Amino acid sequence: MSARFDLGKRPHLGYTDSILDRAAELRHDAAAIAALAADPRARTFVIAGELVCLRQGEPFSDPTFTFAQVAERVSKPEGLREQAFLGRNGEAALFAVAIDPKVAEPLKSRGDLLVTDLRSLATGALVAPEHLPPLAEAKSLLGWHRQHRFCSNCGAPTRLVQAGWRRDCAACGAQHFPRTDPVVIMLAIHGERCLLGRQSRFAKGMWSCLAGFVEPGETIEDAVRRETLEEAGIVCGRVAYFASQPWPFPMSLMIGCHAQALTTELKIDRSELEDARWFGRDEVAAMVLRRHPDGLTATHPFAIAHHIIRAWLEADQSLF
Ligand SMILES: [Zn+2]
Repeated sequence: MSARFDLGKRPHLGYTDSILDRAAELRHDAAAIAALAADPRARTFVIAGELVCLRQGEPFSDPTFTFAQVAERVSKPEGLREQAFLGRNGEAALFAVAIDPKVAEPLKSRGDLLVTDLRSLATGALVAPEHLPPLAEAKSLLGWHRQHRFCSNCGAPTRLVQAGWRRDCAACGAQHFPRTDPVVIMLAIHGERCLLGRQSRFAKGMWSCLAGFVEPGETIEDAVRRETLEEAGIVCGRVAYFASQPWPFPMSLMIGCHAQALTTELKIDRSELEDARWFGRDEVAAMVLRRHPDGLTATHPFAIAHHIIRAWLEADQSLF
């Protein structure tokens, strides 16, 4: 096999390495949570559906507000939705409040605020890196609340409890817990080549790993094999777990894997993929380093696909 590629310093995997202590043991203690919220060191994120509100700043904008600042800016109390306790950074507690996206619209025109989506914050490095993991936690959690205001068992309204980590139904007694949707994302490897695909929504020239939701009753390995077969017609054998990444769009966990391809003839599902093809190691290295003669690129370093691809290029020996 080819020599190991030296691709330089590994970029940070987005939304990982949170500095917060989630302090889950406090969630049942309403008095303790109220005391943390009342502490002058407490801060909160403000999330409006897909959007995050920030205070404009250089070089970074600040996504944290005091509760008093939120009350000043969100003039309509009816615009405030759920509030959740995210955790503690040292002694200071961090919360997240959801506001109605309609209430966030007029905030966009305020010169002191920036209202934008989490993807732009991450790829544009608009906030200090330590804010991104708790922002992902906040967006996923509040997104779950937004979709679970009524009981999926009986249809009655549900109530937020446990500092935002459960919703209870008074009508039927059901307890509902925040969901994370597992998604497998994989690089199929055959000898010195790997399989990359692209969706029509991707930036021009960008290629990535294949991916898909894990289905009920399925292992991660089976999901990798099924998705690769469905999307590209490739049969896979062994599957090796690599790493995972929270992906708050809206509330997924990306499970990164390498897979041993047993066949090479592509049969592409055009409803899922615009294209898929095999790439050699030299070509993929050029894409990762953004030196490809045709301008082809691999996924943004922020995303786990980039890391899965790099790990294959950097491996000292064949992965399978
Ligand atoms: Zn119910």
